[in-house]
Amino acid sequence: MTRHRGEPLLDALARHGEGLPARVLPLKVNAVSQLDLATLAAGLAWGAAGIRALLPARRGHGTEGLFRNLDYIGAALEGLGLAAPLPRAAAIETDDPFALGEALAPALALRAPSAPASFLPLGTPREVLRLALGSLHAAAGAGAPEVVPMPERAPFGEARVAAEGCTLCLACTMVCPTGAFSANPEAPELRFLEDACVQCGLCAATCPERVITLHPRLNVSAAAAQPAIVKQEAPFCCTRCARPFGTRASIERVKAKLTASGHWMFADPARLAVLEMCEDCRAVEATLGGVDPYAGPARPAPKTSEDWLREQQAEG
Ligand code: SF4
Ligand code: SF4
Repeated sequence: MTRHRGEPLLDALARHGEGLPARVLPLKVNAVSQLDLATLAAGLAWGAAGIRALLPARRGHGTEGLFRNLDYIGAALEGLGLAAPLPRAAAIETDDPFALGEALAPALALRAPSAPASFLPLGTPREVLRLALGSLHAAAGAGAPEVVPMPERAPFGEARVAAEGCTLCLACTMVCPTGAFSANPEAPELRFLEDACVQCGLCAATCPERVITLHPRLNVSAAAAQPAIVKQEAPFCCTRCARPFGTRASIERVKAKLTASGHWMFADPARLAVLEMCEDCRAVEATLGGVDPYAGPARPAPKTSEDWLREQQAEG
């Protein structure tokens, strides 16, 4: 509940009728958008049987995130086997204290999913969320799955790479805002840390090979907290000076694209072989290799604005 809207409603409920049920513990927030996943998960892990967010009857802007978070926490509890006949986390939208009392009444039958956890809420909200979900998983017992599928747009999951199509261009590591994708500075290698992925989709939109797909899921296994090697290759060495400068996958990809484009400069295999040289040797080869940049087929004559205007006048 919030100070301006929820507090007067709870005061009215406490003073009239049967009063505020003893099992209801009001928690005041500045805005309902403060009820993030970490808060919801930590509340349940610490022993809350259910959480009800009190909202005005007329839904305002900025509540979409709260409803998504309620869905996500519901899906996580369902997957862990901690769901109840009623949703453990839900919203009550009303301006009427009696309607509020009626909406709270069924939730009073809920019982806590586990004994209260004892972790301290230290670190970022993401770290608190990880601790809370880990506690809920532990409370769910040994048979609880470590990986639970989550709804679309859930802010945790896997960015899966079809490694055979990845050229190790590392574009994904440059756009990833959380460092979930990272490179090895010592070798051509792509790593992925699932715990850090917020499923923003920037990597998938940036990947030139379109080999990244997003899979929202909750993964509480220890492996999710360790960077995993997605793809690695031995460095490709320049065929002229033997200096390592790239990866075979990316060079083969560029050669395939240039061959498919049918460009005259790369019709000759000897010209394509230049791509297997480092940037310095490529410059030397271009200077000393006797390449004539004007040897291609005749180019269309340049067209000026006057040409365009003359054509338009002629047309009509
Ligand atoms: S989805 Fe976003 S956070 Fe996850 S790896 Fe891709 S860019 Fe990084
Ligand atoms: S952007 Fe795509 S091709 Fe490039 S390294 Fe990442 S997954 Fe591989």
